[in-house]
Amino acid sequence: MKLVRFSRQGEKVVQYGMWRDDHVRAIVADPFQDLIVGTAEWYPVETVTLHPPCLPSKIVAIGLNYRDHAEELGMEVPDEPLLFLKPPSSLTGPDTEIVCPPMSSQVEHEAELAVVVKKRAKHVSADDAHKYILGYTCLNDVTARDLQKRDVQFTRSKSFDTFCPLGPYIETEIDPSDLKVECRVNGELRQSSSTAQLVHDPFQLLSFVSRIMTLEPGDVIATGTPKGVGPLVPGDEVVVSIEGIGELKNRVVKE
Ligand code: MG
Repeated sequence: MKLVRFSRQGEKVVQYGMWRDDHVRAIVADPFQDLIVGTAEWYPVETVTLHPPCLPSKIVAIGLNYRDHAEELGMEVPDEPLLFLKPPSSLTGPDTEIVCPPMSSQVEHEAELAVVVKKRAKHVSADDAHKYILGYTCLNDVTARDLQKRDVQFTRSKSFDTFCPLGPYIETEIDPSDLKVECRVNGELRQSSSTAQLVHDPFQLLSFVSRIMTLEPGDVIATGTPKGVGPLVPGDEVVVSIEGIGELKNRVVKE
């Protein structure tokens, strides 16, 4: 099932829904319940706006989780997952604008598989982790690379408003172990890899993070990016696509 958050044209109310064949319908309650029931009416895609598909209390991102990306940055793959946080204020939905801030002259894309947490998780084993996952979506971990290199912490470089496009759907029925992850800028292929190349897989990551902080329904874990990160400049169109999930498209503009 593909889950979304959407609003109908001319309406401000944002609601959870399910997506099928370019149509959306609202669901009763929220998707973090075990029973997901759709309402009767299906709305055509042209009549709705999609929003980020969940509302995380935190976005936990993993650095250097593909060997080839660590190599291109000239860094070692860490023994344990390297964690940083992106603030919820950096979230933006599909088909929105990524705003390049004047503070940076090197904004880059990072295509990533994102895990969406289904229920509260604390001290979960990797074997049990699947029970705590609602599904998977696409995430662009937009990064001000010049600021990342200048600062010790990743916080500033990863946290500008609009630096976390997420969506368009949460796919609830997919095996994340070998999915093609790609990024295109203006149609040109920049990143192409598979989640089979992850150093730590989604289950190991959820387990690891849950030993540090309590994960809440809707929280997001960004699993890291493969090699091929590169610049975004105003006017670009960037598309993160993950096999079996969908395409997350955003335009790049200047602040
Ligand atoms: Mg990243």
